[in-house]
Amino acid sequence: MTRDVSGGVPGPDSTEWTKRREEAVPRAVFNTVPIFVDRGEGARVTDVDGNTFIDLAGGLAVLNLGRNHPRVLAAVREQVEKTVHECFHVSMYTGYVEVAETLNRLVPGDHPKKTMLANSGAEAVENAVKIARYATDRSAIVCFSNAFHGRTLVGMTLTAKEMPYKKGFGPYAPEIYRLPFPYEYRPPIGTSETVGLACAEYAADVIDSQLGSESVAAVILEPVQGEGGYIPAPHDFMVALREICSERDILFIDDEIQSGLGRTGKMFAAEHYDVVPDMITTAKSLASGLPLSAVTGLAEVMDAPHVAGLGGTYGGNPVACAAALAVLTELSEGDLLERATRQGEHIRGRLDPLVDELNVVGDVRGLGPMIGIELVTDKRTKEPAKTAAAAVINACYESGVLVLKAGTYDNVVRLMAPLVISEEDLDEGLDVLIDALRATDAAA
Ligand SMILES: *Cc1c(COP(=O)(O)O)cnc(C)c1O
Repeated sequence: MTRDVSGGVPGPDSTEWTKRREEAVPRAVFNTVPIFVDRGEGARVTDVDGNTFIDLAGGLAVLNLGRNHPRVLAAVREQVEKTVHECFHVSMYTGYVEVAETLNRLVPGDHPKKTMLANSGAEAVENAVKIARYATDRSAIVCFSNAFHGRTLVGMTLTAKEMPYKKGFGPYAPEIYRLPFPYEYRPPIGTSETVGLACAEYAADVIDSQLGSESVAAVILEPVQGEGGYIPAPHDFMVALREICSERDILFIDDEIQSGLGRTGKMFAAEHYDVVPDMITTAKSLASGLPLSAVTGLAEVMDAPHVAGLGGTYGGNPVACAAALAVLTELSEGDLLERATRQGEHIRGRLDPLVDELNVVGDVRGLGPMIGIELVTDKRTKEPAKTAAAAVINACYESGVLVLKAGTYDNVVRLMAPLVISEEDLDEGLDVLIDALRATDAAA
């Protein structure tokens, strides 16, 4: 399997399936490219027409270990033979407890921790909010501009971007308040240098003077914003926000659903900041594609809700737990985190010079290999270049490389390749991406 789209994309079988999909599946369930995958291996996928793509999108940040990782496959096969489902509320199984123990150990902080499991990222966020409200007996939740926290009622309310996540789906959940995120490239207050502290000071002021610090249960944020455009929080902001929360007994919820599990070269992005959150949500790469999410937090907070107040029919499915244990073991014992760091440095080495070379590249940023390229029509005004981003992504696809966009203005190309990608595939993928950026720049 090497990159090969010589048959043309989409091929006849994918085209046929796209017609059937249009008949059978609502249009709102979006797809970036019109292909149907038949099989995958590591960072490559082959579609139903036999076209093979290099994958820099990782099934939307889920495949940090790539497809068919031997350790994950072995664990899943073994568990499938034993039992596929029990429901932890009916009769328990050891995998659930082992995943909880492992996350309690790996999540930053020396305090006693506990973990509950659910199915999706949105569900983890919902549970984190429920637990925070119960534990503090307060109702307000503070979130940030550009945030993404899922598509359920609370998740979508916490999410910043109206189109496509919120439009027409209201009314939204109450008691959710949004503050400016320190986006260094587009500082909402102050300058790129001062935006971290300025946003922290502003947050403290709004909490104290408008919300009332004794009404705020939690602050939730992504240390590196994902859907919002791969925007890392400045260091001073994270440290100051942690202080602000601690001083007011507000819980600090770190949503690491996209940035966690090695995506930034560390197990959790919070480790880059030496910040210890009160609760962490994980999902996406946690079980290498099987649906699993978790809320890990201070034991006393996690234990606040009454017996039977938390849970769900499928939460912590045994097969997903087996996969997660394999993922967590591989990330802890293998060399993937070092590989991720090297991958990030290599990508930055190739992409950073484009900021000077190309008019269309306004910013290249990220943490480790979680990297965003923000496209603009004019470097001075920073006018978002949404059409250019779409053109780059489409040109990559036509050349056999899968990449995704992000950003409140749909103008960020983001990289989240499986950490297992070979150096050759990574470079080949980057060659295609850089060619696409140059061509788009020349056409602008
Ligand atoms: C993807 C994502 C979610 C939602 O996860 P789902 O599994 O799609 O519900 C929540 N928060 C962040 C930061 C995410 O990236």
